[in-house]
Amino acid sequence: MPNTHEKKVLDTQFPRCSNITESVDVIFAYSNQFKGNEKPTLDALQRIMDCLKEVTCLDPTQHYHSKVVVGYTDQSTQPNWSGNGGHRVHIPIKLEYYAQDKLLDACTHELAHSFYRLSALHISNEKWGDPFCEFLRGPAKAQIGQNGISWWYDCIKEHTETKRNTFRNVTGQILLYAKDKYYSQHTLEAFVREFILDENKVSEFTLSLFTEFSNKPMADRFYPVEKMGKR
Ligand SMILES: [Zn+2]
Repeated sequence: MPNTHEKKVLDTQFPRCSNITESVDVIFAYSNQFKGNEKPTLDALQRIMDCLKEVTCLDPTQHYHSKVVVGYTDQSTQPNWSGNGGHRVHIPIKLEYYAQDKLLDACTHELAHSFYRLSALHISNEKWGDPFCEFLRGPAKAQIGQNGISWWYDCIKEHTETKRNTFRNVTGQILLYAKDKYYSQHTLEAFVREFILDENKVSEFTLSLFTEFSNKPMADRFYPVEKMGKR
């Protein structure tokens, strides 16, 4: 049963969702238009949360006294996370997001934001949330059977080949920083394949980022993100 915080989020932000289903850290609110199967969807959302809790050693559910409410709403036109006024992920009411894969794909990014917000990085690097979330999106995707490996490859390519001024370019730089630290003898392919499945290593690296950049901007090491627009 939803607690007071969660009830308020459901009532004010997801009034059009007539169904809810909940796990340890997630309430999934959906209407009859949802095309997926709610049980596997909820399981996958929880697996993403488990993975993020494991690698960041943070617990947003405890912090907000609320599970994250993932639901469909007409209050946003793009998927987005917020912890203000309730712990939630808005999924826009658009046909494409009624597909289970598309919903889960969006959540591999959005759910990471709640962990970033609680991390030391957030204090000195507010703008770096998106590249950081795109980094954790790799293992999150791998957890639910989506292609995290090619996701990480795309980020690295965005830095080494396309060189566009995007969040993913920075994510590529973060990944190469991890390679330098732990996998300098590996080929790029071996690095990506091993690192993405090694939760302990991803955690060690993530916590090292929290420490290294808690007091200095990530722009000291990575390509400046200041001028970047939205993806
Ligand atoms: Zn984002």
